[in-house]
Amino acid sequence: NKQVLLRDYVTGFPKDSDMNIVESTIKLKVPDGSSDVLLKNLYLSCDPYMRNLMNKPEGPPNPRSYTPGSPLTGYGVSKVLESGHPDFKEGDLVWGFTKWEEYSLLPAAQILFKIEHTDVPLTYYTGILGMPGVTAYAGLFEVGSLKKGEKVFVSAASGAVGQLVGQFARLNDCYVVGSAGTKEKVDLLKNKFGFDGSFNYKEEPDLDAALKRHFPEGIDVYFENVGGKTLDAVLLNMRVHGRIPVCGMISQYNLTQHEGVTNLAHIIYKRVRLQGFNFLDFYHLYPKFLEFLLPKIREGKVVYVEDIAEDLDNGPKALVGLFSGRNVGKQVLVVAHE
Ligand code: NDP
Repeated sequence: NKQVLLRDYVTGFPKDSDMNIVESTIKLKVPDGSSDVLLKNLYLSCDPYMRNLMNKPEGPPNPRSYTPGSPLTGYGVSKVLESGHPDFKEGDLVWGFTKWEEYSLLPAAQILFKIEHTDVPLTYYTGILGMPGVTAYAGLFEVGSLKKGEKVFVSAASGAVGQLVGQFARLNDCYVVGSAGTKEKVDLLKNKFGFDGSFNYKEEPDLDAALKRHFPEGIDVYFENVGGKTLDAVLLNMRVHGRIPVCGMISQYNLTQHEGVTNLAHIIYKRVRLQGFNFLDFYHLYPKFLEFLLPKIREGKVVYVEDIAEDLDNGPKALVGLFSGRNVGKQVLVVAHE
């Protein structure tokens, strides 16, 4: 059973060598009388939050924090090989919280959903139909209270979450602009995802000026994925009663000293709602989300770009690549094809 282990706690930017690959010879089996499930992992999701679990815990430990010498955990699509739980049987395809290894023996409660629709790529359950999809949907509509025709800005816009935020907002007749870190990504935003505008934040010496160019009348909803300088410039450009669903701040995850936001008082001047959220609070929306999104995928009205890495050996590189922007679209790691 090949596994990806955390070698030691990480400070600063993560490196491939912070993880190592081992072969475990322990034979996994569901013990008699147990309600566990034995899974064959097929596709693993590479997610920015995983970096935060590599920190040495300070204060009360987060139960999900990684332990040196143990496999990483994360979202994935798996096939049930053996089940001690009445809700699952051999051959079921599921998605939920698993480990970075070929086979996992886990409590059935780690499975979030049985996969009922297999006419779409199975990898989609790590992205558009999985955690990042629910995040974009809940963040924009529930937390961001998006209204038709509003002006929307999203950062990390070509990524797993961002590409959907933009498309969902466009479906609501909104004006949407996204920022990303390469020409290829900026082009994708306009040509593939139908954004109204896009810019490369690395090539804009003055982010405030870039935002004023794209939003002369200001921003109603800023879907926050990166934090730092981008958030600071956005605050100057928010409209009165704007909303900022705070999804993530990837630009800060590897810094030992977080960058200051100097324009925070604009939250008051403009009565902006800045609200953090976690997708974990929104899984009850999953059936409604599938009803909304599956027909749009089938009709080609929403598209999804994935960046596929093959084999657990390439897992560390794929994960670390999120923090230098190597991934174009949702980063998926293939452990095995079904
Ligand atoms: P992506 O697929 O967008 O991958 C990460 C991207 O972030 C990179 O490709 C890179 O793109 C960009 N990036 C990396 N470093 C920086 C930096 N210093 N400044 C600006 N951009 C940077 O990831 P996801 O879509 O999965 O995640 C996006 C955000 O959403 C993250 O902050 C994540 O933590 C958060 N998140 C929050 C959830 C919640 O429940 N609140 C759930 C899921 C995700 P580029 O080339 O454009 O720089």
